Amino acid sequence: MKKLYIGVDVGGTKIQANLVAEDGAVRADNRHDTPRNCGSEVSVNAVEESIRTLLYENNLTVKDIGGIGIAVPGLVVPETGYVVVTPNMNLSNVELGKILKKRLGITVAVGNDCNLGTLGEFRYGSGRGAKSVVGIFVGTGIGSGIVIDGKVIGGAACGAGEIGHIVARVPVKSWKNFLDSAQFELPKKAVKCGCGNYGCLESLASRTAIERMIREGLADGVKSVIKAIDNDAVIKSGALLKALKANDPLVTAVMRYASYVIGYGCLTVRHLLDPEVIVLGGGVIEACHKFMLPIIDEVVQGDQLAAAKSDRRITVAELGDNAVAVGAAALNE
Ligand SMILES: [Zn+2]
Repeated sequence: MKKLYIGVDVGGTKIQANLVAEDGAVRADNRHDTPRNCGSEVSVNAVEESIRTLLYENNLTVKDIGGIGIAVPGLVVPETGYVVVTPNMNLSNVELGKILKKRLGITVAVGNDCNLGTLGEFRYGSGRGAKSVVGIFVGTGIGSGIVIDGKVIGGAACGAGEIGHIVARVPVKSWKNFLDSAQFELPKKAVKCGCGNYGCLESLASRTAIERMIREGLADGVKSVIKAIDNDAVIKSGALLKALKANDPLVTAVMRYASYVIGYGCLTVRHLLDPEVIVLGGGVIEACHKFMLPIIDEVVQGDQLAAAKSDRRITVAELGDNAVAVGAAALNE
């Protein structure tokens, strides 16, 4: 019998556990809401429960499983399964790998969700067959991962692959400012990212950034099918697509801008790593790739810096919601 693995994608809103075959096929899954406003112990229990339920529903025990992988939205030390910090949920400072290994009696590997989403696409999705893949996932934020020769690149201290936080708009206005003063002054219109830095790619092209720009446009009186929205309202990716299809002037302009920003981000990725494949995924890309990809391609194809010819490509992710869990399962292979 072929080996089976379990991959769990622990997100801020849901926990998804997948039973994954050796060839990456998803045999079964379950989804539960992530517990909110609780201690980390409750979240750890929920992850354990999702695994036990998956085993039970499929008449399996841990003896039938080749390994378990868990993906969390935050900074993880993969070697030890220690979760350093999860900004949007409560698994910070938790020895997740060790705790679950002890409770379940099987090795449990832990990694960052976007790194594992990229690993999933590298092994079984639109990056399969390539030696090097960079994944960029555009949603509420912009997450990413780098996989070279089958290995996730973590850098010196697990800080690599944060393409959402590469600086896409340098917050230094001009050399002329330094004629009057040696003091560095932040330009008045510098855009602050959720991470605290200025000018990050994520702060210019994520769904959150797209919402901010649409609000700016509405405030300026630009015509749009999207009606006035308050500060907390979310514009879903599907609504963006609908507005694009209706040739909405505001949404079209904002999405064109975001696409160019992502295109230049891809160009930077190419100049840094020259990966064979850049896989674009996440809710915004899934919904709007037909509009966005040609613009992103135009920027990258227009690269003036000399490079040898190759079949390197930019493509849309194939595994959708399953990428992260499948990548987590692949940690064990
Ligand atoms: Zn940032």
